[in-house]
Amino acid sequence: MTETIASIEELKAQARRQVRPTDQPPEGATSPDAKPIISFTARRKGKAPSHLADLTLEKRKELLKSAGFPAFRADQLSRHYFSNLQADPSQMTDLPESMRDFVAETFLPNLLEKKAELIADGGSTIKNVWGLYDGTSVESVLMGYRDRTTLCVSSQAGCGMACPFCATGQMGLTRNLSTGEIIEQVRRAMITSEAGALSTGPARLSNVVFMGMGEPLVNYRAVVEALHRMIEPPPYGFGLSARNITVSTVGMAPLILKLAEVGLPVTLAVSLHAPDDELRDDLIPANARWKVGELLDAARHYFEVTGRRVSIEYALIKDMNDHTWRAQLLADELNARGSGWAHVNPIPLNPTPGSIWTASTKEQQEAFVNQLRSAGIRTTIRDTRGSDIDGACGQLATEVTRKQKAAGRAKITNV
Ligand code: SF4
Repeated sequence: MTETIASIEELKAQARRQVRPTDQPPEGATSPDAKPIISFTARRKGKAPSHLADLTLEKRKELLKSAGFPAFRADQLSRHYFSNLQADPSQMTDLPESMRDFVAETFLPNLLEKKAELIADGGSTIKNVWGLYDGTSVESVLMGYRDRTTLCVSSQAGCGMACPFCATGQMGLTRNLSTGEIIEQVRRAMITSEAGALSTGPARLSNVVFMGMGEPLVNYRAVVEALHRMIEPPPYGFGLSARNITVSTVGMAPLILKLAEVGLPVTLAVSLHAPDDELRDDLIPANARWKVGELLDAARHYFEVTGRRVSIEYALIKDMNDHTWRAQLLADELNARGSGWAHVNPIPLNPTPGSIWTASTKEQQEAFVNQLRSAGIRTTIRDTRGSDIDGACGQLATEVTRKQKAAGRAKITNV
């Protein structure tokens, strides 16, 4: 056993030299060896206009009552929004005309303007870039599978977690999205899906994953409110199944513990990408705060409280984190905390433009997966949807923002 540990230490030392590409110093760094720094401070301070989806049903009733309208109108209005996916008050013919302007202004401002739509994977993937009220851009991706239709949503414009392999991480954090801005991504996707725009999958949106731009747990309050709106039945929300919603985090251990207490058994996905602090410190700057051990303890706690098996996300990067000995180390870390509580999803890296990092070879992917499986870890390779349309997280919105700047903020309808 001592021999195995010693050899792993040697392997780590050998691998260390390759973990930081020297032609990619972090933004603003004076030396290529400087580490990227995470940030929780938004560059923009403004708040999106208040929206029906920001409010509980009770708050919607209060607001209507204080404006002199009967509280029952809140149920009608909410059913239009969450059941009929209708956000245009002029189409809500059961609402009195005298109320419609108030509703439009107070509850249903237009939060998302479609800036670009790209279709890939033979029509089974649709990626949208949305312009927000303050000119920032976010993206969401709708994916049809044989048995489900999944939306990947953004929770922030940009991201302050600075993961060096991620396009969004290179943008920094512009601002947190409001609950309304998150929920509007879902409503718009439901409309697209129900119109039959995808070539594959059920017409009804069934799954939502917080794997778009941003670290959802940094925007904790708005994201938890959005989870309520997604899960609760109309007129409270859309009535999606909690087990079909995944919150993905880079590893904010204290907020994982907090999320476990919310009582919404959503799936937790942990973007681990390395089982050892030596490598993870370089790949995931947030690891400087929350180490692998603390993160996996929090994830195990989440499983115990919610009964939901945790997904461990692992982007396989060629010659960096895809060694079979690292697969074994990952298995050891998971098995040390019990069996059957975690499911590993390796995914070949979807490289950002200009990155020298690239996806592992097929052979190495297989070797990695086999090592995990032979150690008793449930493992499924995830596919890389949208890789032909700037599919890496944040890549398309980054490109739209760049073109927008280049065009002097001219309106972009497609990229
Ligand atoms: S990988 Fe996720 S957490 Fe890391 S920078 Fe990108 S969006 Fe943020």
